[in-house]
Amino acid sequence: MTIRRLAGLIWRTGMIAEVAPPPPGLADTPSTVPAPLAGSLQLRHVDAGSCNGCEIEVSAAFGPVYDAERYGARLVASPRHADALLVTGVVTHNMAEPLRRTLEATPTPRMVLAVGDCARNCGVLAGGYGVAGAVSDIVDVDLEVHGCPPEPDEIVAALRRLTGR
Ligand code: SF4
Repeated sequence: MTIRRLAGLIWRTGMIAEVAPPPPGLADTPSTVPAPLAGSLQLRHVDAGSCNGCEIEVSAAFGPVYDAERYGARLVASPRHADALLVTGVVTHNMAEPLRRTLEATPTPRMVLAVGDCARNCGVLAGGYGVAGAVSDIVDVDLEVHGCPPEPDEIVAALRRLTGR
């Protein structure tokens, strides 16, 4: 296939994504969401000690099928550009202080999302010798997403509760 034909095929096909579910009701939005975060949410991802299963699902949530960006959520490269931290995995002893510092580097108002069962309650890694605790043992958590690993549509639904879109 020539480049020209390929470009034509891409142009005709357009972007294909899952049909958007109805927007979340206001009652679904946690009362702790600061008003300035509504509509647009920049997220810094922190892997505090996961097995990388959660990262695969976070990647899927921001990929072309689930496409979390169409609801106003976006991953950024620095906590200084972020409104919220999206934390996956248990917090290992080595990551406890970096997690605290990353939160300190995030401007206020800010939020913390604990994504996956390890982040919520240590999950299958509870009791491990390298585990300092769940995310809420280290920093305050505003919203949790359950699952091991969490489904991409659950991650997107949680993000929509924050953006309200
Ligand atoms: S919740 Fe499951 S997939 Fe995610 S880091 Fe823990 S063990 Fe891995």
